[in-house]
Amino acid sequence: MITSAPHHLRASYDVVVVGGGPAGLEAAVTAQMSGAEHVLIVDREPEAGGVLLQCVHSGFGLHRFGEELTGPEYAQRIVASTLEHDIDVLADAYALDIDEHRRVKLMTTQAGVTLIEARAIVLAMGARERTRAAIRIPGTRPAGVFTAGLAQRLVNLYGLLPGQRAVILGSGDIGLIMARRLTLEGIEVVGVFEIMPHPNGLNRNIVQCLHDFNIPLHLSTTVVEIHGQNRIEKVTVAPVDGDTLEPHLDRAWEVPCDTLLISIGLIPENELSHQMRLRFDPVTRGPIVSSAMECSRNGVFACGNVVHIHDLVDFVSAEAMVAGRSAGQYVAGMLPRLDNVQLQTGENVAYCVPHTISTEHAHTVYLRVRKPLAACTLQLVKPDGIPVYTQKLRYVFPAEMVNLKLHPAILAGFHGAVLRLNITSRTTEGE
Ligand SMILES: Cc1cc2nc3c(=O)[nH]c(=O)nc-3n(C[C@H](O)[C@H](O)[C@H](O)COP(=O)(O)OP(=O)(O)OC[C@H]3O[C@@H](n4cnc5c(N)ncnc54)[C@H](O)[C@@H]3O)c2cc1C
Repeated sequence: MITSAPHHLRASYDVVVVGGGPAGLEAAVTAQMSGAEHVLIVDREPEAGGVLLQCVHSGFGLHRFGEELTGPEYAQRIVASTLEHDIDVLADAYALDIDEHRRVKLMTTQAGVTLIEARAIVLAMGARERTRAAIRIPGTRPAGVFTAGLAQRLVNLYGLLPGQRAVILGSGDIGLIMARRLTLEGIEVVGVFEIMPHPNGLNRNIVQCLHDFNIPLHLSTTVVEIHGQNRIEKVTVAPVDGDTLEPHLDRAWEVPCDTLLISIGLIPENELSHQMRLRFDPVTRGPIVSSAMECSRNGVFACGNVVHIHDLVDFVSAEAMVAGRSAGQYVAGMLPRLDNVQLQTGENVAYCVPHTISTEHAHTVYLRVRKPLAACTLQLVKPDGIPVYTQKLRYVFPAEMVNLKLHPAILAGFHGAVLRLNITSRTTEGE
């Protein structure tokens, strides 16, 4: 466990990182390697590592470490790196507020409210799960309704089983992984119900977590009512209209169960960022960032799920290294601010991060599509519609981030431009 007692704390740090998940840990190490001497990570949990600690399945680290690790193994590697770099980690410390002078107000178990000054801040608070309230499922309020991540925590960290017969609402990755986990623990998983006509999790999880265990996936179907007094007894499910998503109640059926897991997406944890009055992207629900992962206030950087929901932790690490390097350069007075191109979303692109880039550097731009497409083309186009860059893609899914690598040679001559990203079907183009 990493816990620095508050009496070891300095009154001021070069960089304070809020959140000790993979994003915060990776950013802290890189900040120190890039010019920051004193770096502090604060996390509200008793241990650093973030969501990774409860993800005991493998599937982490192929890009970052070139091998397949479990979540705790991945966390262990970056925690070890923070220890080597002598970075202060304060656990059991909740960041309540960050004022305009970059003073971080913390609530710690040992010292109550503490104020720490920072020359630069990295926001790495991750994301939280959407709950039943977010989609207003009608019915009673019995026990046995969990978010999938909470159920994962109960099973993997506390050794508690949520029930004996489970229904899963939503085909996000957490729900898929929990379908397999519950099955392995002897719980009957009756089915996964997904309102959209396509799965919302990675294809590898559909195959490895559902198909391999004969768990049915019902697309275009949702839970329309929860029944039970003290404990959930059954749910009513119904197919939905493909366009309006309205349920066809005349074709509804009942599914007996004592557990309902809800896996309907994550929301970036941005209460602090809102208090700081940062500019936000309404689609990602995270702060708008430059290619240095700098937010709309100088010296405030962000990375990981707090900026946008990532599919793989490896990309969280890559993004956090950019944010950490920038924070280190900022305190050393050497952060170059060269962004001169604004990126905009166009056809079938829900969002892109970062929001601005420079013509002088290579960049990775992360984006997500609105709907699945096979045999498609990604284009970066000028306002007059003329393409600057074209790349063929075999397929795209909303659940999988697209990583677009842009090199200075592609962007040369577009200083000051607004460029739009489109992903269109090649079949449609040819028609
Ligand atoms: C169930 C599940 C399965 C996954 N499976 C895979 C997989 O197989 N492969 C893969 O590559 N990725 C997987 N991921 C994704 C990966 O775990 C996440 O992308 C990654 O953990 C995000 O890192 P983060 O640091 O941004 O956020 P988090 O890991 O959520 O860390 C954020 C940290 O910030 C802290 N915090 C928040 N607010 C405050 C505050 N105000 N004060 C102090 N501390 C605060 C939290 O306590 C937390 O420790 C999975 C995720 C989940 C949930």
